[in-house]
Amino acid sequence: MCKVIAIANQKGGVGKTTTTVNLGIGLANLGKRVICIDADSQGNLAVSLGIEEPDSLDYTVANVIREICDEKEVDKKGILHHEENIDFLPANIELSDVEVQLINTIGREMMLKRYIEKIKSDYDYIIIDCSPNLGMITINALTCADTVIIPVQASYLPLKGLQQLIKTIYKVKRQLNPKLEIEGILITMVDSRTNYSKDIIETLNENYGSSIRVFENIIPRSIKQDETTVSGKSIYKYAKNSNVAKCYKNFVDEVVKEG
Ligand code: ATP
Ligand code: MG
Repeated sequence: MCKVIAIANQKGGVGKTTTTVNLGIGLANLGKRVICIDADSQGNLAVSLGIEEPDSLDYTVANVIREICDEKEVDKKGILHHEENIDFLPANIELSDVEVQLINTIGREMMLKRYIEKIKSDYDYIIIDCSPNLGMITINALTCADTVIIPVQASYLPLKGLQQLIKTIYKVKRQLNPKLEIEGILITMVDSRTNYSKDIIETLNENYGSSIRVFENIIPRSIKQDETTVSGKSIYKYAKNSNVAKCYKNFVDEVVKEG
């Protein structure tokens, strides 16, 4: 059975791409078959996985979605392989054109889902790195996902943004994808073992009851992690003995434990 996880938060720079890479490769290190899909026209996932100029790639998520819009058959074209045993489908600036084109397309929320259905049998996990907005590509990601992981930066709690995100997730669940669940909130870039995470958990519980889980493992802010992003490797390879590598590994174990 393949599980599709969207990594989403419309706030920028909260660690979505970093989490996608470290979750994807962390799962591959446990022997799982994984593909990471970039749903962000910034192309940062590709960069994090060693592609220096994603905008020069000629077959990406944008082409896949275009072909599905045109009712053409899609196959595994465009899927790349990373040396740490994951596949990935990159995106680039072209995805923003596609997003505009989707507005006039019948079934526009379902395009990514059609693709996922084609490739699903080859993987145990499909991880989708969303862009920092709640536009049509993010809606596509939520429409084909089984669960959502929401990275939240620890230094402050943008509760209003989070409320909007959660509202959107439940709207997609009601109207397009009844099986969609929030897997949990991952607190990222924690400066020190302060009370931030406790505050966040408390605020979340006040606002949503205990219905939304916060992952026990929190991710520290780490220069190593920041350097890793441009190295084209995962944190497990770049700085395997670092604390942040351990924290990401424990987070991956938490995700796997949930099934
Ligand atoms: P965007 O919304 O633009 O897609 P994002 O949510 O995907 O951003 P990332 O790109 O993962 O966020 O991270 C933002 C920046 O923070 C990157 O430069 C990354 O290297 C850095 N970063 C991510 N996690 C950590 C960490 N734990 N410690 C230090 N820096 C980090
Ligand atoms: Mg990103």
